[in-house]
Amino acid sequence: MKAELPPLLPGSVWLVGAGPGDPGLLTLLAAHALDQADHVVHDALVDARIIAGIPAGAVVESMGKRGGATSPHQTEITARLVELARAGKKVVRLKGGDPFVFGRGAEEALALADAAIPFRVVPGISAGIGGLAYAGIPATAKQCNSTLAFITGHDQDGDVPDGFDWNALAKGAEVIVFYMGLRKVDTLVARLLAAGRKPDELMAVVSRAATLEQKVLETTLGRLEADLAATPLAAPALLVLGGVVALRARLDWWRP
Ligand code: SAH
Repeated sequence: MKAELPPLLPGSVWLVGAGPGDPGLLTLLAAHALDQADHVVHDALVDARIIAGIPAGAVVESMGKRGGATSPHQTEITARLVELARAGKKVVRLKGGDPFVFGRGAEEALALADAAIPFRVVPGISAGIGGLAYAGIPATAKQCNSTLAFITGHDQDGDVPDGFDWNALAKGAEVIVFYMGLRKVDTLVARLLAAGRKPDELMAVVSRAATLEQKVLETTLGRLEADLAATPLAAPALLVLGGVVALRARLDWWRP
């Protein structure tokens, strides 16, 4: 595959999505960015196989927030990106999934814009789409859903977000995908049930999607907590609620 791709110029930063895990899910532009970079600052979600594939000429630095663990403050990360760009480096900020989906890429881009650092956004395959696909769960299927919602399982304070209408969500989105939901499963289940979703609705937990450690739990909204207690699954993980989960019985194609 040949394509005309732009150069990563000294003094600029590309915010690059690395996809959910499988290095094959990097875009051409993401691979091109890594080939040109002289400094890569990656977050905690980027798959080790992708880090290992970064050309030897680049400095590789890990900087990312990780639920629960001590992690650098977001302002430290943006300050570092600005510092590297001002030093004339060709900088790649490599983030799991898509940089603009629950990844703080917006904050990083805003900080670069404020500092007048030239930047480019290289979208990646978000876990809520590509990670589900690796679990054999289509995000949409004609016979199941015409709506799809992506929700974060926790807000800036680490709490389940309540700044929106749960009843409207439960009614309006046939399929709901939660990012960062694993630590607040009890509250999420309570909110969904209180908003009218049925306990026998199908649910899946997709842990470490598209990585060699992928694990999938198929359950229902009512059984989710008990099943997770019996079979704990590692973060990062997605929670999926809705009829598309049933299709996995026939579409579970991936063997890590
Ligand atoms: N920008 C990322 C999301 C970052 S928020 C994206 O677009 O995918 C972090 C959350 O993303 C995790 O808590 C988890 O819910 C989800 N996630 C990211 N990578 C994942 C993976 N490989 N498997 C399962 N969930 C993943």
